[in-house]
Amino acid sequence: MSSQLSNEQLIKVAQEFGTPLYVYDADKITEQYHKLTNAFTKSDVKIFYACKALTNINILKHIKNIGANIDCSSINEVKLALHAGFSPHNILYTSNGIAFDEIEEAKNIGVHINIDSISNLEKFGKKFGHSYPVGIRLRPNILAGGNLKISTGHDKSKFGIPVDQINEILSVVKKYDLFIKDLHIHTGSEIKDVEVFVKGIEVLFDIIPHFNELEFIDLGGGFKVPYKDGDGETDINLLAQKVNEAFANHPNPNGKPLQIWFEPGKFLVSDCGYFITQVNVIKQNTNTTFVGVNSGFNHLIRPMFYDAYHRIKNISNPNGSTKKYAVVGNICETDTFAWDRELNEVHEGDYLVFYNAGAYGFEMSSNFNSRFKPAEVLIKEGKVYLIRRRDTFDDLLKNQIEAL
Ligand SMILES: *Cc1c(COP(=O)(O)O)cnc(C)c1O
Repeated sequence: MSSQLSNEQLIKVAQEFGTPLYVYDADKITEQYHKLTNAFTKSDVKIFYACKALTNINILKHIKNIGANIDCSSINEVKLALHAGFSPHNILYTSNGIAFDEIEEAKNIGVHINIDSISNLEKFGKKFGHSYPVGIRLRPNILAGGNLKISTGHDKSKFGIPVDQINEILSVVKKYDLFIKDLHIHTGSEIKDVEVFVKGIEVLFDIIPHFNELEFIDLGGGFKVPYKDGDGETDINLLAQKVNEAFANHPNPNGKPLQIWFEPGKFLVSDCGYFITQVNVIKQNTNTTFVGVNSGFNHLIRPMFYDAYHRIKNISNPNGSTKKYAVVGNICETDTFAWDRELNEVHEGDYLVFYNAGAYGFEMSSNFNSRFKPAEVLIKEGKVYLIRRRDTFDDLLKNQIEAL
């Protein structure tokens, strides 16, 4: 049975903790994680949660408790992972355009590192030579993903070292006798088509023979989850089958079986999240009925930033007759969650819930317009935990220095 929070549960926590409110269902995260581990029982696969999707420390602890590893995209995420109890061995730092001192810091902590530029590879070689194994983040020159802002593998993307620079990579590796233990690609986000992963693997198979100390291949994240009704999800079982086949047909030339790593973010935490808002005003204009909620893109930026679709429901009137609305926020610029959206009839004070709000929801929120960031609640096995209190006015002034 798929885990889902009921309208009654959501209304109850909204009444208890106020709105706007992020609510996460820990059991859903567990369920998604098991979808992955069950699909990949035949291969030697390790799952690293790409934690930039949602870093509340309780989420990280839950993810650690269910047995996953963690992928970080900044040194502070690495430190959060340590704080949550992950051991360095289970932490991966996939860097992107960072200063070398951060790579050094990650090395000193002892985590796995994927280096994404020739320049940092060279600095790493000069300083550490063969003494510390590292991975190389490659750019496979494949265009994929839900939106150009979240596509990372194409030929104009800043991410990774382009595969066509393989000769430069090899000369740096040789010069410093680097210990390359993995090759990494991450093509983008919301990749439904399993063939994109297969293409990525094929690109890697041409390169693998150049590295004789490889231990694993890191295929990144980007599995798609359904945001709209009827939207598909990456077929994880098919992916597992294709990955098995591909690796069975291409044994590692150095004789060691290659372990496969994945870095899902959205797949683990998108569906676990519910963002509850309340209706401030209803405004009838010539052609449009606006529903103004007590939030905005400062709390959930995906619709405005990525043209993302989030399902919205009026949980205060779930059986009311339906009508079309524009759902808008209270930020002083265009701030639209949904145009022309059918909802059960809305009244001021109703609770509107945005679904699939776990990934890149709270995490990308800000204090724009000097609004408070929302509180966060975790529900695990029926128990409710407040895991972040709502901002207070003091938080707005906290780091400011009144010099005048
Ligand atoms: C963002 C990111 C991911 C996760 O992407 P999702 O679409 O959330 O699965 C994985 N790996 C890297 C390197 C990333 O930057």
